Amino acid sequence: MIDYLPVRDAVATACRRLATEGLLIGTSGNVSVVDSQTGNVAVTATGVVLADCRAEQVSIVDSQGRLVDGDFQPTSELELHLGVIAATGVGAVVHTHAPAATAVSCVRDSLPVIHYQQLLLGGEIAVAPYATFGTSALADSVNSALAGRSAVLMANHGAVTTGATIEQAVENSLLLEWLCRLLIDSSALGSPRFLDESAQAAVIEAAINRSYGTVQPVTTDNKEN
Ligand SMILES: [Zn+2]
Repeated sequence: MIDYLPVRDAVATACRRLATEGLLIGTSGNVSVVDSQTGNVAVTATGVVLADCRAEQVSIVDSQGRLVDGDFQPTSELELHLGVIAATGVGAVVHTHAPAATAVSCVRDSLPVIHYQQLLLGGEIAVAPYATFGTSALADSVNSALAGRSAVLMANHGAVTTGATIEQAVENSLLLEWLCRLLIDSSALGSPRFLDESAQAAVIEAAINRSYGTVQPVTTDNKEN
């Protein structure tokens, strides 16, 4: 008997965190995590209030979407999750109707690089063309627009982020929402500037040289007196 509790718990914990942060509202949005032992996928069930999501409400499906374990019908966006996992090999997928991301998705065709932290998501973020929720057309649209990035916006719908781990996918969702909020706030003041390709290349070079984003102990070499 396979113990799916850890992967179910990972999904439920992520849902509660994203709801607390205001990215998942009510029953809108869904989260999936690949079980590393079996390759099966733990995914939120349809109709669950995500702020209160519990491990036993999380369904387990195989790569074809067949229910392997669980008492509840998986999310209507199951095909989207399984399609992204199959195409990218990521360990987790988060789909939200987060307010700022959804607002941007209603107006723009892409999110150019507005802040250097956006490079953590892979650069300019596409807006996948609109298709009805829960359809193969939407799954295909999202998968093509994702194209090597860790985030994509979905026209007049919301956003998808990915990660090697669920913690990473959640952080990417929070970062995407912050970037979309930044676009909205800066647009209220005027026409935002974006970082061009040479500015982006310089950021990547500086990040590599300085091991940006990692905790670095102070050594006698770099300690300032
Ligand atoms: Zn949705």
